[in-house]
Amino acid sequence: MTSRNELPLAAALSLVLLTTATIPLSTDVASATKHACWYYAPGNLIPDTGKPSDERLGDGTKLNELDWGEPHGLNPIPGARGIAQSQVYNPGGYNTPGDECDASNFSGPDRDNYCELRIGKDRWAIGCKPGPTHAGLDIKAGTRDDCLLMRIAQERILNNGEDPKIADLVAVQAVQDGVITTIGTFSVDLVSMGRLYRYMHINMKTIQVKLGDSVNKGKILGYMYDDYNKSEGYWTTFHLHWEIRFPMNGEEVFLPPYMAFIRSKERTLNATCQLVQ
Ligand SMILES: [Zn+2]
Repeated sequence: MTSRNELPLAAALSLVLLTTATIPLSTDVASATKHACWYYAPGNLIPDTGKPSDERLGDGTKLNELDWGEPHGLNPIPGARGIAQSQVYNPGGYNTPGDECDASNFSGPDRDNYCELRIGKDRWAIGCKPGPTHAGLDIKAGTRDDCLLMRIAQERILNNGEDPKIADLVAVQAVQDGVITTIGTFSVDLVSMGRLYRYMHINMKTIQVKLGDSVNKGKILGYMYDDYNKSEGYWTTFHLHWEIRFPMNGEEVFLPPYMAFIRSKERTLNATCQLVQ
């Protein structure tokens, strides 16, 4: 793993932004509709990045085509202001050149990244061939401006000791009514109706829930950030990693979260997202 010893900054732009009295931040549903709602099919990953399986139900439905977040789960990002995007294989991602705030990371189409092969142990991920699968969905949420502002805020927090709240621009929310069962060093678990929803990399210094809290769907859990095991040299981008887990045969298996994300986006935007052929 590499450490993030330098925070790349578009210096000219940051000066402009820091000296701007009011910075328009898109925080409402209306702005979300500006994102085109179009998506690649579930299991259609960036080529050569993972191994989805072709497991199907008796009626022929592919397992990774199902909305495993039913019934009527919310999108993990209020206003559905997120794009499903690999944080590894897109600009500025781990081992990928470019800038994590590149505009292409904040526009469609959504793309599944659940079955991507990553580093680590093998995971039992429904809808993927065996291997060290990603087993979650990376979501780049907000806008390019939010990303740039978060980077500036992070510099201020790290270098000037400013309040961690200044980085809180993109909220993440409970997708169902449930209970907060775990708060880790960079993750929050929400359990609801036998499913465990894990949210990773949110700003743990400004988290909005406590262990054991009962929450209603729509409750803001915290804010998208890049918290990880930084003290051990781990690195990530500003994004939300979102998982759906399910206990089965004494083991916790991973369920495909991509269509839950797409269908909840459709419900939020009251639109039918277009499948990219
Ligand atoms: Zn991830």
